[in-house]
Amino acid sequence: MSPPRLVLKPGREKSLRHRHPWVFSGAVESIEGSPGMGETVAVHGKDGAFLAWAAYCADSQIRARAWSFEAKETIDEAFLRGRLMAAIARRAAVPKGSDAMRLVHGESDGLPGLVVDRYAGTLVVQVLSAGAERWRAAWPALLEEITGAKAIYERSDVEVRVLEGLAPRSGPLLGPAATVVRIQEDGIAYEVDVVHGQKTGFYLDQRENRSLAGTLAAGRDVLNAFCYTGGFSLAALKAGATRVTSLDTSEEALAAAGRHVEINALEASRAEWLAADVFSQLRKFRDQDRRFGLIVLDPPKFAPTEKHVPNAARAYKDINLWAMKLLAPGGHLLTFSCSGAVSPDLFQKIVAGAAADARADLQIRRHLGAALDHPVSIHFPEGEYLKGLWLQAA
Ligand code: SAH
Repeated sequence: MSPPRLVLKPGREKSLRHRHPWVFSGAVESIEGSPGMGETVAVHGKDGAFLAWAAYCADSQIRARAWSFEAKETIDEAFLRGRLMAAIARRAAVPKGSDAMRLVHGESDGLPGLVVDRYAGTLVVQVLSAGAERWRAAWPALLEEITGAKAIYERSDVEVRVLEGLAPRSGPLLGPAATVVRIQEDGIAYEVDVVHGQKTGFYLDQRENRSLAGTLAAGRDVLNAFCYTGGFSLAALKAGATRVTSLDTSEEALAAAGRHVEINALEASRAEWLAADVFSQLRKFRDQDRRFGLIVLDPPKFAPTEKHVPNAARAYKDINLWAMKLLAPGGHLLTFSCSGAVSPDLFQKIVAGAAADARADLQIRRHLGAALDHPVSIHFPEGEYLKGLWLQAA
């Protein structure tokens, strides 16, 4: 029996020919057969040419996600094993120093909708697309076979699943239901709550930028805004910051951050943790005439989709403007955006606008991005969601 076929409208084959993995609903002319959720379909151009094997999703604006652009390939367990092994082999180039890393980064690793993070001996999996869901029974055994992990936990409790017609879900996939896993990053221990933590438990994408913060922090007063469980704060404390002030609205995250100071035997007296809204707290610090030699701004995703970009731009500008007013002469600002819908170029324009309004003279020392275990496919610019600037005040 031949597989279902999805035929594109004339002229709409360009993005697949450029190896971009998404087929939008508006590009589809007809469907031959009745593919189920996540079933593999053969995508063809109007002229009949084969374009890709893709996972079908009737509910999503992204009607199909390409597994492969090779007609001779068969999408089966052996194919998925090959993709997983290639993704994990790619991580051999990631410098050691941490026992936590992203092993699979969705589309950028040729596995649309699948994310796998490793926290010491525990894997945390996110199944985010109909295609990845179709193969859900295969992932635990394949991952156990390839990585040797004995505990795999699912954290697919995210909104993007709803866009794919899937209900959010979480729970153990293999072995005991892990809760808190101890990891090491650059000589610092963290307790990652893989069940209740944000995302899969830890922001692995910021690893290299936390190290950078460490190299800048010695002898400085540091402000870590949106600190979560204290990643940047711990790196700064360990590197010899004079004082580290950290802000977050999540009491659970701050409690975990406090424990991190303890388990690393760092001086609690140098660390100040405030359960506070960054937008108002930055203004309060300005009223108090406080200054910081290093400021980290790592807010949550202000623009989940394209339509949120104007509001997000205002929010990014606001926090950057106020942070710039708090920078000591010669001080450093590490400022980030993890909104995929805000391009690196737009982000830089927003930050430049904030600097103009703050009447701040700043230099770009470096453009920043996600850590090496978050590769970005050259055909999938959406994968470059995390961007940042290392700025220094005159
Ligand atoms: N830099 C962190 C990750 C930050 S994630 C790390 O390296 O681990 C963003 C954090 O911002 C979350 O912990 C969230 O609780 C917090 N947050 C969201 N809105 C906030 C606000 N208005 N004020 C303070 N914190 C906020």
